[in-house]
Amino acid sequence: MTANLHRLVYYSRNHVSADAASFKAAVDDILAKSRINNARDDITGALLFNSGCFAQVLEGPLETVEATFERIQQDERHGEVSLLAFDPVPHRSFPDWAMGFIGLSDADAARFSGIAASSGFDPSRLSGQEIHRLLRDLTLEEEQAHA
Ligand code: FAD
Repeated sequence: MTANLHRLVYYSRNHVSADAASFKAAVDDILAKSRINNARDDITGALLFNSGCFAQVLEGPLETVEATFERIQQDERHGEVSLLAFDPVPHRSFPDWAMGFIGLSDADAARFSGIAASSGFDPSRLSGQEIHRLLRDLTLEEEQAHA
């Protein structure tokens, strides 16, 4: 049981090069670093990305979530970081994920959020609660696929 458990949700604009190899290298680097730091800091969560944006849920003790978000905001691999939710919560939604990640296709976005597939996924149109639900549903599917 984590004291002072909080959940933070944000989205941002992806500044990583659109070229597939650089994009994969940047995401791999972010995930590798996140998993080391987050395990140390008792943080769990999930990161959603496509070529235009990131959306992330971080959950853990208030102090380490704040410190992690401070570092994330300074990162030049993205910009226009918008905080959507930051609240105390009774339990974790991603207890087994030091940082789950989902590369989101437009079809998935449409399936989960009702956004027209043709319009592409833009998390700035979603609330913190909707992004949290989308990430939770997608990571649950991922868990079931690999169970
Ligand atoms: P170091 O790895 O030693 O890095 C030192 C500095 O260099 C930092 O300012 C870092 O931002 C910068 N830096 C390092 N590598 C690169 C690079 N390839 N390009 C540009 N700048 C670089 N970190 C977490 O700990 N947990 C998370 O959940 C998390 N999620 C992230 C989600 C997104 C969308 C992005 C873009 C970054 C995320 N990060 C996360 C990374 C975070 O922004 C910091 O880079 C990281 O926490 C710094 O780790 P460190 O203090 O060990 O410093």
